[in-house]
Amino acid sequence: MPDATVILVDHPIIRTKLTELRDTKTDHREFRGLLDEIAMLMTYEVTRDFPTRQTRVQTPLEETVGYELARKVTLVPVLRAGLGMSDGVLAILTDARMGHLGLYRNEATLEPVPYYQKLPPDIAQTEVLVIDPMLATGGSAVAAISFLKKAGVTNLRFVCLVAAPEGIKALHARHADVPIYCAAIDRQLNEKGYILPGLGDAGDRVFGT
Ligand code: URA
Repeated sequence: MPDATVILVDHPIIRTKLTELRDTKTDHREFRGLLDEIAMLMTYEVTRDFPTRQTRVQTPLEETVGYELARKVTLVPVLRAGLGMSDGVLAILTDARMGHLGLYRNEATLEPVPYYQKLPPDIAQTEVLVIDPMLATGGSAVAAISFLKKAGVTNLRFVCLVAAPEGIKALHARHADVPIYCAAIDRQLNEKGYILPGLGDAGDRVFGT
């Protein structure tokens, strides 16, 4: 099994946009826009080592070598906050399909409870990006990835905005083969499972609930 990997996508533009996102004064309209922009910028790094294969392309002047992605891509946002990043990722991966996984967190036990799953039929042959802005306890991420592995998926990456050290540890304890991409690694979780300093409840902030 490959070493556990955390890729911190650190870029001045992402850092400044993340600062605006964290700001409690940022309303849901601004929050949605910023989250999409960061997701779009992160996708460049998340896809950096996607395999390609050669094709031929006819320019107006002559035929030459071209490239296409070797595998199709499927985005799997974890509902509901994951939806807040999917338009940004789709802006770059315009051909990607989307699967949906509904997991909510039982606030008493902090355990993920599944309530909806719908995946493309050939998902096992694709590159899968699991998307959830907050890697907190890691419970939902572990559950989502276990579910996708059972569906036969082998090429998996986990994409989040803010990761807590506890979540990284929990995810890698169960799925050390899945790289984690994040824009920040924050200090810790509080007693309710929220990331500190974090940005609050990402779902509530995206949807204005
Ligand atoms: N989910 C959130 O939306 N925010 C956190 O801080 C932790 C989990």
